[in-house]
Amino acid sequence: MSQLLDSPIEYLKGVGPAKGELLKKELNLFTLHDLLHQFPYRYIDRTQFYQIGELHEESGEVQIKGILRKLATVGEGRKKRLTGVLRDDSGVMELVWFTGASWIEKSLTVGMEYVVYGRVGSYNRQLNMAHPEMEPANEGNSREEGAFSPVYSSTEKLNSRGLNARVRRKLVQNLLERLTPQDLPENLPAYLVQKFKLPGRFDAMRQIHFPRTEAEMNAARNRLKFEELFFIQMRLLQLKRRRRELVKGFAFETVGDYFNRFYTEKLPFELTGAQKRVIREIRRDMGAGVQMNRLLQGDVGSGKTMVGLLCMLIALDNGFQACMMAPTEILAQQHFNSISQYMEGMEVGIGFLTGNVKGKARKAVLEGLADGSIRIVVGTHALIEPGVVFHRLGLAITDEQHRFGVEQRSKLWAKSSPFPPHVLVMTATPIPRTLAMTLYGDLEVSVIDELPPGRKPVETSHRMESHRLRVLGFMREQIGLGRQVYVVYPLIEESEKLDLLNLEQGYEALTREFPPPQYQISVVHGKMKAADKDFEMQRFAAGVTQIMVATTVIEVGVNVPNASVMVIENTERFGLSQLHQLRGRVGRGAEQSYCILMTGYKLSKEGRERIQTMVRTNNGFEIAEADLKLRGPGDLEGTRQSGILDLHIADLAKDGAILQTARNVAIRILDDDPGLERQEHHPIRWFMDKYKKKWDGWSRIS
Ligand code: ADP
Ligand code: MG
Repeated sequence: MSQLLDSPIEYLKGVGPAKGELLKKELNLFTLHDLLHQFPYRYIDRTQFYQIGELHEESGEVQIKGILRKLATVGEGRKKRLTGVLRDDSGVMELVWFTGASWIEKSLTVGMEYVVYGRVGSYNRQLNMAHPEMEPANEGNSREEGAFSPVYSSTEKLNSRGLNARVRRKLVQNLLERLTPQDLPENLPAYLVQKFKLPGRFDAMRQIHFPRTEAEMNAARNRLKFEELFFIQMRLLQLKRRRRELVKGFAFETVGDYFNRFYTEKLPFELTGAQKRVIREIRRDMGAGVQMNRLLQGDVGSGKTMVGLLCMLIALDNGFQACMMAPTEILAQQHFNSISQYMEGMEVGIGFLTGNVKGKARKAVLEGLADGSIRIVVGTHALIEPGVVFHRLGLAITDEQHRFGVEQRSKLWAKSSPFPPHVLVMTATPIPRTLAMTLYGDLEVSVIDELPPGRKPVETSHRMESHRLRVLGFMREQIGLGRQVYVVYPLIEESEKLDLLNLEQGYEALTREFPPPQYQISVVHGKMKAADKDFEMQRFAAGVTQIMVATTVIEVGVNVPNASVMVIENTERFGLSQLHQLRGRVGRGAEQSYCILMTGYKLSKEGRERIQTMVRTNNGFEIAEADLKLRGPGDLEGTRQSGILDLHIADLAKDGAILQTARNVAIRILDDDPGLERQEHHPIRWFMDKYKKKWDGWSRIS
């Protein structure tokens, strides 16, 4: 990096120690490099002026020009605000500031002409503009900036301490004035720049901040997005290659008796095409003599457990043990039950280990694992505790990976020698392709994209409080037909007490509607002891109770095929992926299933969209895409800590095509020239070396 860009931000003309401190604290801008790489998130079109008279509530963000007629502080205490009136030939616009009033008041002069930019809103049916950007009309610097002025993300504090949008622009301008092409050498090979008709790195950087035309803006943006995604892919693909070279693994060469006997004699159904395909992929991977790290994605109900079991049998055929680890006691128990059932008559030692397995039983499992008489073990994170010693662990499967931290998985690695076990991570959280390519770009990925035949899609509907009686009637009807019903309440830490109270009241109301002895109701929530939860789960699974009132503890994996109705209370408080998981608890049997989304009358726009998405589709990937669009990648499960998604300019929700191109290009380059030795690839190598430190953390992600 250049010396200029490495210098601390306070050295820039116009910053100084006080503002420098603010920029560091508020925006994490420490160096001039950081300032340069905070790109505008939008631009003000300087070519267009509106007449105040032609504006209305839906006009959005506009630029107007007029004389500031009045400026006054009104209201008291928390309601205190600064208001102004701007007049042009066609009318007047009220301006209002709720924070930073004193600084703003000082910086404005009544009677002067201003160029004003902001979003048109309304208050008491009168149009206004809150926190508009004001610039004296005679100060021609907007002309110098060109047709588009950049707008950078900011904070209230910055705005109220004199670091407003205009000052920010000026700082970037000051920096660009000093910047030379030597400060930003090209990092892409010349042939790529030509092929994709990209602006050079230096030009793109100037143009992204101060584009003169829309075409220039788009070209610069594309170039920088491509660059960003390209280097992420280069890094991930290099990691993947390196791991393939370095981390040797057990070669499972044979598919033998266990697998074949099970497949021909025990398999209770025909595998779907997708199940067969992923088993082939996994088998090939485990046979190659390199440690497998594979993600198995499949929507709820796609049959991941059976795939896992068949892979474990391959491990057994090669003389190894296998384990399956679930995030909760309930899930582990279920996997253990179904695997034991499937395996009946196969004479294979199967163990079960969770924190609740104690005393003699625990001792027996530990001994069986150590002497190898237990070949398959199912459990929770109790399996990775130091006291658990395997005779020969060859394959570790974790179910619902997002509950397992990276650290926990690395403990698994230590459980076998001389090589780490093969690792298969199963997840039902559908991850959009773009995100998977970035988050798991260094893992192999298998996808089960097909449900077992005969599944009827769950019918989903949206109901409000006024429909409550009909919903209860529907529940009664379904229970009369011999089905079971889930009623789910939200429970989050911040409002835990209130949430539990809600659940309790809901439970009481249901008991009145569905009185014993005719009806029995189970309750399960996160605050109960594991043993009590289990007891209630078992009663529901066995059909003793007809209704299960629960918090999201049932979200993951629970399998009660006879349950055909899922009622979700306060649906607006759940995220999309959570709702999808919940709905996946029904529709597992032969009967038509229903999901009823209860909400209040007041719904935010986003809440409404979430519910519409749920009603519209059962497809987990479609839902994940919608989630990504609504929330942005930063909020998706498991992505926040990873740091990978610290993107400056690319947007995984929108830039799928650029990402795909970047990945393809990166693959081709590494296939051709793995060491980046060729002259034309030196810019790439140079740039990656520069940023090595930042990227070193990534290798820990998987
Ligand atoms: P998930 O992928 O959500 O973990 P499961 O493994 O729990 O799904 O499977 C859901 C249900 O589908 C189970 O009852 C399982 O026995 C059944 N199943 C799995 N594969 C098939 C198949 N190929 N044909 C029919 N039923 C299947
Ligand atoms: Mg499952």
